Amino acid sequence: MPPPRARSTCWPAKAAVWWRHSSCQAERVRLIAVCVAILAIANCSAPPAPSAADRYERWLAAGHVAQSAAYSRQLRQHGLDGVVPMRQLLRSGRRWRRCAVDEFALPPPAAWPSMRPTLVLVRDLSRAGVLVKPQVASGFRTAAFNRCEGGSSRSRHLTNNALDFDLGREVSVADLCRYWRKHGAARRFGLGFYGRRQIHVDTSGFRTWGHDYTRASSLCVTSSAGTGKPTNGG
Ligand SMILES: [Zn+2]
Repeated sequence: MPPPRARSTCWPAKAAVWWRHSSCQAERVRLIAVCVAILAIANCSAPPAPSAADRYERWLAAGHVAQSAAYSRQLRQHGLDGVVPMRQLLRSGRRWRRCAVDEFALPPPAAWPSMRPTLVLVRDLSRAGVLVKPQVASGFRTAAFNRCEGGSSRSRHLTNNALDFDLGREVSVADLCRYWRKHGAARRFGLGFYGRRQIHVDTSGFRTWGHDYTRASSLCVTSSAGTGKPTNGG
């Protein structure tokens, strides 16, 4: 009969004692090796999150190549295809994940011309140095997504006439308001502020609004926004 195996003394009740126990070095090395292996496997098995460009390519490949190209072609015929990259122009909205819709949305062809005057305005704002590298957050929305996004039932996103932008720090709200005051009536410039760095632009009428959708809360109406002085809003 074989002698009973000696019980290991390398797993004392208290881990701290074990960790310091000089005769447990081999067990410690094995434990560390196992942890490193687990972390390596976890790291390797989690693919990197796809970039916005990758997501756009995947969306195009899922049956949207021809329509997107046709929309882009029509904009090019009017010299407007380069104002906003298609990958931005077709962004559905900020809450696409929460609302379980595609990140990108194609307006129906009948609504394509509605975007032209807004792109002309965006182009002119860029040329005037008022908009600098604006990032589109939302373009055309379906009615269902617009409700989920929190848009008005009369939102110009429904008719493909509106764009929401995230603004960089280099954009001056005072300059934006100054342009709106000077050219807004002629350009039918609708300017909304969802925050100091989140704006809505459309060409459906000369008006402005702020966080509560009233004119009074617009950064262009509050006393200091149009004067070039810094404001605390948004
Ligand atoms: Zn908007």
